[in-house]
Amino acid sequence: MAAAYDSNNIFAKILRGEIPCKKVHETAHSLAFHDINPLSPVHVLVIPKGPYVGFDDFSAKASNDEIADYVKAIGDAARKVGVDADGYRLLSNCGANANQEVPHLHVHIFGGRVLGRMLK
Ligand code: C5P
Repeated sequence: MAAAYDSNNIFAKILRGEIPCKKVHETAHSLAFHDINPLSPVHVLVIPKGPYVGFDDFSAKASNDEIADYVKAIGDAARKVGVDADGYRLLSNCGANANQEVPHLHVHIFGGRVLGRMLK
C-alpha cells in the first residue's frame, strides 16, 4: 500500500506554482515538465495533478477521466519533445524498493539518444 500523500512534496509545490518548472505540456489532470537533472538529452517528467504517491493509489483512487488524461498526456508529451520518431523509454519509480525520491506519482520519459539498459 502506498504511503499517505504529503502535500509538501516538491511536485505538489510545482503544481501550486510555488516552484517554477520548464513546462512541456499541460492538460486538465496532468502536467509534463523537463527534469531539473536530466539523465538523457530529453528527460521529461509527467505527473497527474491529483494527490497520488504512485501507481498503487492512482489506479485505486483516480477517476477514469484522470487515468485516461494521464496516459494520453504521456504520449502527447513524448511527441511534443520529438522523441517519438527514434524511440524513448518510460519509467516510474514507485516506493522504497524503487528508490522513489519524490512522493508524487511521476513517469520519466527518457530519449534523445540510444539508452543503456537502465536509467535511474
Ligand atoms: O523517480 P524519482 O523519484 O527518483 O525521480 C525524481 C526526479 O525528480 C529526479 O529525476 C529529479 O531530478 C527530479 N526533480 C525535478 N525537479 C525538482 C526536484 C526533482 O525535476 N525540483
